[in-house]
Amino acid sequence: MEKAHMSVDREEKILVLVRLRPLNKKEIAANEATDWECINDTTIMYRNTLRQGSNIPTTYSFDRVYGGECPTRRVYEDGTKEIALSVVKGINCSIFAYGQTSSGKTYTMTGITELAVADIFDYIFQHEERAFSVKLSAIEIYNETIRDLLNSDGTSLRLRDDPEKGTVVEKATEETLRDYNHLKELLSICQAQRKIGETWLNERSSRSHQIIKLTVESCVRELLGKENSTTLMASVSFIDLAGSERASQTMSGGGARLKEGCHINRSLLALGTVIRKLSKGRQRGHINFRDSKLTRILQPCLGGTARTAIVCTLSPARSHVELTKNTLSFASCAKEVTTKARVNVVMSDKALLKQLQCELTRLQTELRNAASNCDCAATARKKDVLIQKMEKQIEELRKERDLAHSRLEASKLEDGSVSGMVDLDRRGQDDDLNEDLPTRSEDPSDGYYREVQCIEIEESANSNLKEERAEKPTNVLGQNVKLRRLNHIETVPSTSSPPGADFLGRPEIVLPDLENDSSMSSSCGSSSTGVQSIPLWEEGGITSVRTFFNGLQEMADLHGGHVSNAAEVTGTMGRELLGVEGDFERQRKEILELWQTCNVSLVHRTYFYLLFKGDDEADSIYIGVELRRLLFMKDRFSKGHQASEGGETSTLSSSRKALHRERKMLSKLVSKRFSEEERTRIYHKFGISVNTKRRRLQLVNELWSNPKDRTHVAESADVVSKLVSFTEQGRVMKEMFGLAFTPPSFLQLRNSIVGEKHAFTFLTICFRH
Ligand code: ADP
Ligand code: MG
Repeated sequence: MEKAHMSVDREEKILVLVRLRPLNKKEIAANEATDWECINDTTIMYRNTLRQGSNIPTTYSFDRVYGGECPTRRVYEDGTKEIALSVVKGINCSIFAYGQTSSGKTYTMTGITELAVADIFDYIFQHEERAFSVKLSAIEIYNETIRDLLNSDGTSLRLRDDPEKGTVVEKATEETLRDYNHLKELLSICQAQRKIGETWLNERSSRSHQIIKLTVESCVRELLGKENSTTLMASVSFIDLAGSERASQTMSGGGARLKEGCHINRSLLALGTVIRKLSKGRQRGHINFRDSKLTRILQPCLGGTARTAIVCTLSPARSHVELTKNTLSFASCAKEVTTKARVNVVMSDKALLKQLQCELTRLQTELRNAASNCDCAATARKKDVLIQKMEKQIEELRKERDLAHSRLEASKLEDGSVSGMVDLDRRGQDDDLNEDLPTRSEDPSDGYYREVQCIEIEESANSNLKEERAEKPTNVLGQNVKLRRLNHIETVPSTSSPPGADFLGRPEIVLPDLENDSSMSSSCGSSSTGVQSIPLWEEGGITSVRTFFNGLQEMADLHGGHVSNAAEVTGTMGRELLGVEGDFERQRKEILELWQTCNVSLVHRTYFYLLFKGDDEADSIYIGVELRRLLFMKDRFSKGHQASEGGETSTLSSSRKALHRERKMLSKLVSKRFSEEERTRIYHKFGISVNTKRRRLQLVNELWSNPKDRTHVAESADVVSKLVSFTEQGRVMKEMFGLAFTPPSFLQLRNSIVGEKHAFTFLTICFRH
């Protein structure tokens, strides 16, 4: 059997009733005056303003207030009845009496208990279709000791935390009630148990808390004992608390009788604290129900899942005014406490399964409705935005193409040397951007579209760069060399090796394909090998040339968002880039260190290291840019910001993770790329034992791990280049690091100076669609 709870979502405040008893004989004899009056159903007023030195009478309002003549039945009928009877519907509940000694707690609770139990039995008789069982237990907490009032052996009971039921009183006698008379019988036993020695009856009853608990279980008679039965189970507690004067440490106005022998009642004090804290609602902080036995037992009733009523009883006598006010202030707190009742259902496995299925169906329906109501609209809106963005890009691409066309035409007329580099006609055919992008991506042989990034860096009129360039034509020439190199890629057709493919002796990357190890073949163009392996590398987070541009773009953005402003960054950088001020070796060294600090991809390091050896003057530009990018990245990381890395924003920790993933992937290639002999040699070189199980992982962890050691760096580059199959050919920038540089992709470093403009234009990076 499983216990399940069904929330009834009934959040409600504790019901607080205040009952004023009549003056007793003794008080009348002593000529006591009464200063309290119930001025209506909900307000009680303190009349004796003279003593307070104020003319404004003090009033207190509660759910209900009752004057001295009011019978217990009315107190019960007004509010507690409804709460007590919720026990038959599976909701736990409790009814307290709080007040000073002799204010009428026992009088009130006895009445309420009897009336409630009578009504419960009445309900049972009226609901013959259900089978009920009613059990009674009664305990007393006296000096933090729990005693069973239905067992005369006097042993103390212990509290135990039950994962299902919460705090339970261990081994408390539970009598199954046969009828109402049986209850009366048991109640008188309790009474007798409390009366131990006539002499100290009053003392004891004022110090102890009595809890009478009625547990009601019910089930549909027809299903009794059947597999799919469900049982409602709850209990109602009638609690007659110790005299509230026991909670007060400063018995200032209490009179001599209260002062003597009065020591603090831990349970009552804890109850007061709990109620005070609970009344503060959400700002209440931690509430320690475990401070006393009483609060432990009552935890579910107070601010928990039970319905609760508190009857505060008052003595009207003037001599008790301070204690009466204390009681009222407790009552005021209590009325702020909220509980959320729930129905306790005990279910058979089958019934539980059925209920869960119903719940599942309900949730599925809800989900479907929600999806059809809002998600479609949102998706459509997103798509609209995307379409608009793409249309804008197409328009821009068209302009770029036209511009490039016209520039080419112009340069053809001026200088024949350029015309050989950019096969724009071919490009025009391949990349007819008038066509729809999706149609293009459907063509497997040409499944790419391009994204144009154009960074035009304006050079300031008084930039030194211009003068230096004029003085050092080799720089311009150097850039031209780079331009040639880059342009060369554009002209690589997918089917044939272009003339001069090896012209700079630069390495080429062939993307590895872990699925079918056929990547040793040429990766250029629309080679399926290259295409297949892209997602792998992208997944692995290996950075690429994209990193380069994203980093630049980010730097530019940070410096004002305008690309022209980036010129200032790169303008001052320019001198250094061109090797005028920059110490080439120092920069390279710094880059090596920064790669390590910023967790830069090993493939990127390798590529960069092998490609920009400094044997070309234009290399200094790339080295300078890379240095700036890394410094920028390091700066961002150190400030805890994000930096652009491979098209994604990354933090220091995410870059570390990406690097870790990359190393793992590389480790998978070790046995594919190297023969046994080669492996042995490499392990030896990196000081790794050939016999260790994790030698491949050890090796890749070792790679690029020591930027200060030049030999180590060169060897690392060598191993990585072989792992990812760099070949010693000049087809440089293509198929780099997860980017599909399909021919005729091109990266154009443009050095055409139009007027004051130094155009530093990166065109077209192709992404796989
Ligand atoms: P407590 O339990 O708070 O110490 P009791 O319930 O024992 O106080 O009441 C003290 C006395 O006052 C009892 O004799 C009781 O019969 C009487 N009494 C209490 N409340 C009322 C009331 N509302 N009407 C008449 N008598 C009352
Ligand atoms: Mg009493």
